[in-house]
Amino acid sequence: MDRQKTLVGKDIHLAMQFLKRNELVAIPTETVYGLAANALNPEAVIKIFEVKQRPFLDPLIVHVHSIDEIQKYVSYVPIAVYELAKYFSAITYVLPKQDIIPDIVTSGHNTVGIRIPGHPLTLELLQKLDFPLAAPSANPFGYVSPTTAQHVLDSLGGKIPYILDGGTCKIGVESTIITFETEIPTILRLGGTTVETIEEIIGKVDICVQTKTNPDAPGMLDTHYAPRIPLFIDRIPPEYSFEEIGIIAFERYHERVPIHQQFVLSPRGDLSEAARNLFHALRSLDSMPIKAIVAQTFPDQGLGKAINDRLKRASVKRANK
Ligand code: AMP
Ligand code: MG
Repeated sequence: MDRQKTLVGKDIHLAMQFLKRNELVAIPTETVYGLAANALNPEAVIKIFEVKQRPFLDPLIVHVHSIDEIQKYVSYVPIAVYELAKYFSAITYVLPKQDIIPDIVTSGHNTVGIRIPGHPLTLELLQKLDFPLAAPSANPFGYVSPTTAQHVLDSLGGKIPYILDGGTCKIGVESTIITFETEIPTILRLGGTTVETIEEIIGKVDICVQTKTNPDAPGMLDTHYAPRIPLFIDRIPPEYSFEEIGIIAFERYHERVPIHQQFVLSPRGDLSEAARNLFHALRSLDSMPIKAIVAQTFPDQGLGKAINDRLKRASVKRANK
C-alpha cells in the first residue's frame, strides 16, 4: 500500500471529509481506538481489512450514536439492550442485521455486532454523519489494541489519512460482546463492562468465550492482543535472566527485575486502573530490548476477567515465532 501522510488532530469536519470520501479514520472510543469506515459502503470497508491485514472471516463492529440508530440496522432490539444502553457504552450487542448492512461487515453472518461508543468526539462525529461507522480496533491484526493516538500512529502511520485524537482511552480494553441469539444472553468476549455489572441489570447471562471451537465468536482467535516478544503467565522460564525480562504485575514490583522493565498496573489494587494501563504496558515492553514478558494472573473478578483473557491470548505461542 502506498505510504501517505497521516494527520493527527481533533478536527471532526476533516474526519468527516475523509470518511465521506470512503477513506479510513482512526477514532477514539472509551475502550480502544477504532479504525473507521462508512459501514454501508463495501469499498470503504474493504480498506479496513487491507490496512489491518485482517482475515475476512473476522466481522467488524458497527458504531452508531443512539439506540434509535441501532433500530435502523437490526431487525429486532430486545428490552435488555435498551436497559443496558441506558447505563453502559462498552458493550457490543450481536443482533439480527438488516439487509442494509453489507455482508463484508458481518463476514456473511446474518447478525451484526453494534455499539454506541462512549466518547464525546466520536459521538459528535457519528451524529454529523449520515452513515454508521464500521470500526474494529485500530491495530494490525493480532497485535495489541491502541489506547492512544500515538499508539495508532506507531503501527498505522503512513497507511491512513487521519487520526482523530481523543486522548487516552478511559477503559482501555475492548467492549464486552453479548449475543441475544441464544435463549439466555451470552457473553462472547469479556471486556470493558463487567459480567457482574451486566447481570445486575438484566439477570443471569451465559459466558462462552472459547475460541476456535466457538463459531459464534468468529473473531476470537486464540492468538490476539499479542506483543512480538513471547509472553509467559505466572512463571519466569529458566532460560531468561532477570535482566532479560519485563514484568506486568497488578500491585507489586518484582524484587530482582530492573525497575524500568516493570509495569505495575495499579499499586492501589484497582482493576479498572489496571485495565486502563494494560495495553500501554504491553506495547512499551514490546519496544524494549528484552527477550520475554512475564505477566501475573489478575484477580478473577470485575475487569480482572478481561485482563486475564487478554493476557492468555497474548501468551499463546505462534508457530512462526
Ligand atoms: P475488534 O473490534 O477488532 O475487537 O473486532 C470485532 C470483534 O467483534 C470480532 O473480532 C468478533 O469477535 C466480534 N463480532 C463482530 N461482529 C460479530 C457477530 N456478528 N457475531 C459475533 N461476534 C462478532
Ligand atoms: Mg481487535
